[in-house]
Amino acid sequence: MMDDAAVPDDDAFVSSTTDAYAAPTDAYAPPGSDAGGTDAWAPDAFSPGEDFAVSPTETRNTGASGEIDVPVTITDQRSFMVVATSENASRLSVLSVTDPSGDTVLRWEDWYSGDHSYTSAIYAERTATTINWPVHGDDPALVPGTYVVRLGSYRVDGITSRPDVNVDVTTITNRDTDLSSGVLRVVVVWADGMADDAALVTATEAAVDHWNDVWSMAGLSVEVRYVESTIDPDLPYPAAMTGDLLDTASSFVTPGEIAVIVGETINSDTSQYGVAGRIPGPVIRSPISAIVIGWLANAGGDGVFSANDIQLYGEVLAHEVGHFVGLFHPVENAFDRWDSLSDTPECRNAFNCEAMLGTNLMFPYSICDADGCVSTTILTNDQRGVMHRYTGTR
Ligand SMILES: [Zn+2]
Repeated sequence: MMDDAAVPDDDAFVSSTTDAYAAPTDAYAPPGSDAGGTDAWAPDAFSPGEDFAVSPTETRNTGASGEIDVPVTITDQRSFMVVATSENASRLSVLSVTDPSGDTVLRWEDWYSGDHSYTSAIYAERTATTINWPVHGDDPALVPGTYVVRLGSYRVDGITSRPDVNVDVTTITNRDTDLSSGVLRVVVVWADGMADDAALVTATEAAVDHWNDVWSMAGLSVEVRYVESTIDPDLPYPAAMTGDLLDTASSFVTPGEIAVIVGETINSDTSQYGVAGRIPGPVIRSPISAIVIGWLANAGGDGVFSANDIQLYGEVLAHEVGHFVGLFHPVENAFDRWDSLSDTPECRNAFNCEAMLGTNLMFPYSICDADGCVSTTILTNDQRGVMHRYTGTR
């Protein structure tokens, strides 16, 4: 068992949070506190399908060590995900993943303080955490046997161990072995009144079509259904303290779906396009299970969607959900932190990064001039490898 000394230091925590989630194209926030409704199980909800399995949720206590080991038994599955949630005074993170032979295949120490991002799971920033395994095409494929995911519970500082925390643990597995084509299921949750705006609905459907075009180049498609909610259209930024709202928003998904909330603004900011709170995010309801999109920013701030705006809107959706299925920016805004993929170059200044990566879907900001924004449609082989290993992709 690890002790408190094994917990991440404050600098790494802050820098990772800032780099991974604060980029210009990334501002998305969680919906209003009066969100929700009980009609989450819409009649047209997708059925999970036989390749996709969700365990019963089990409550565990982290005990004196502040840690628990979650076993995940694999027979012939391709990917698994563990989702853990606690209450407001706790923060959870993943400490390690051990394979059936006892080898540790993920250690938080290997990634926490470095300048390459691998998974948000290792940062104890929220009341919930999730790990998707494998992460990369370079990670060993699953083998039969029992994997062990070690989780830790911390105080709200994300650093100090907090023992005796009850944690609800759910395991999801996916048996689909096709790593070249796949489908992701998405629920667009309209914030209050948005579904009544015919121009917004039309623009969103057109943006979803463009999203599908972009992702199709990576062998992926999205199936989208739409639900209405009473969520406040001034969406909040995804954070520990807005977890209740994300939880409510994700009550509209059935297991295997991802919630995308479309509201007017994020934190009342008309320039925030969208934010995916975690990389990756869960495919079941939880306090970290929603992406927020502010439509006004996507419409260019004038409230009217031009063809260029719809292109940008579709690429924002593709980008934010790209985060949710596990993709980091190939380089962060400050050009001093990178993803951990080998085929995305490590550029170090705006000029070089825009030249080498400016058309990559996961570039951290929009490159725009009076004629519009550079279209970002490129996904590398390694980026595709992450997307096809996401447990929600089948
Ligand atoms: Zn981003």
